[in-house]
Amino acid sequence: MPARKSITIGDVCVKPGARATIDLPIARLYTHTEMNLPVHVVHGKKEGPVLFVSAAIHGDEINGVEIVRRLLKLKLLKSLKGTLIAIPIVNVYGFINRSRYLPDRRDLNRSFPGSYSGSLASHLARIFMNEIVAKCTHGIDIHSGSSNRTNLPQIRATLDSPEVERLANAFGAPVIVNARLRDNSLREAVIDMGIPMLLYEGGESLRFNEHPIAVGLKGVVSVMRELGMLPKKERKKVIPSIVVKSTSWVRANKSGIIHSALPLGSVVKKDQIMACIVDPIGDHEEKLLAPFEGIVIGSLNLPLVHKGDAIFHLASAESHQDLEEISDMVLAESMVNGRG
Ligand SMILES: [Zn+2]
Repeated sequence: MPARKSITIGDVCVKPGARATIDLPIARLYTHTEMNLPVHVVHGKKEGPVLFVSAAIHGDEINGVEIVRRLLKLKLLKSLKGTLIAIPIVNVYGFINRSRYLPDRRDLNRSFPGSYSGSLASHLARIFMNEIVAKCTHGIDIHSGSSNRTNLPQIRATLDSPEVERLANAFGAPVIVNARLRDNSLREAVIDMGIPMLLYEGGESLRFNEHPIAVGLKGVVSVMRELGMLPKKERKKVIPSIVVKSTSWVRANKSGIIHSALPLGSVVKKDQIMACIVDPIGDHEEKLLAPFEGIVIGSLNLPLVHKGDAIFHLASAESHQDLEEISDMVLAESMVNGRG
C-alpha cells in the first residue's frame, strides 16, 4: 500500500504519524496585535476519515473548549487512523471578550460560508471553510446554551442523511433533535458540501459544566470509534439515544420573578406545574403549566422574566416510555459525572 500523504494547513505540512499546532493568521486587533486561529492536527500513520472537532464558534460557549483539551490529551490517539483536526476556539475575538459575537456584534454561526472581502465574521468563516472544512470528511461542532440558558446534552442533526443518523446514534447523548438547518450556519455550509456533521449542545455559556463535558468527550470518542478512527470497544449495554418528535419553548405567561425546581431531564405531564411566576411585592402568583407531556431539554437559569420570555425548552417523544428512558439515562450519567 502506498504511504499516506502529508496534510497541509496554512503553510504547515504535517507528516503521517505526526501532530502539530498551527496558528492560522486572521485579522489583527486594532492594537496591532496579531490574531491567529489555533488549530491542532493529529495526522495518523494509517488512512482513515478526516474529522474536525470545533468549539466556541460562539465565543462564550466554553464547555467545548474543555472537551477538545481533554480529547487531545487521550493516549488513545496514538492508534489514530485518519486525521483529527481540532479547533478549540473558532471565534477567538468573542472568546477574549467573553461574548457570543464578533466585535461588530455579528454572529459567526450566521456568517457561513463567508467571504474574504466580507465582514470580519464572514472573513473568519471563509478561512475556516477553506483551511479546515475543505480538507475533512466529517465534522462535529460543539455549543452550549446562550442568554442564561442551559441545555441538556443533546445532538442536533439532520437525520435524512443515513451517515449523519449513524454518527448521531453513535455519539450516545440522551437526546437527538432532528433539527432544521439554520441559514448561513456552519452546519448548513458543511452539509451543502456533502460532509456529514453533528452539532453537540450541552450546559451553559461561560461555565464548565462537568456532566455535559463528560458526555461530550465520550460522544466524540464514540463517533471516532464508529468511523474506524479509533479501535472498537466492547460496549456494555447502553441506553440508546431517543430521537425526540418535536420541541417547543414554554414562554412566561406574565412578567415577574420565576420560581422553579425542575432540573434538566425532568419529565412533565400535560398541565403539570413547571414554575410559579411571582411579583416582587408578593400579591400575584401565576402558575406556568406544561402545554404537553415532554422532557425538559433546556431551561432559563436567570429568574427574572418578561412576558413571552422563553423559559423551558420542552421536547415530546413517541411514547411515555421513551421519555422515562431518557430521564433515567440523564439521572444515571449525572450521578456518575456530577451534576452540571
Ligand atoms: Zn452556540
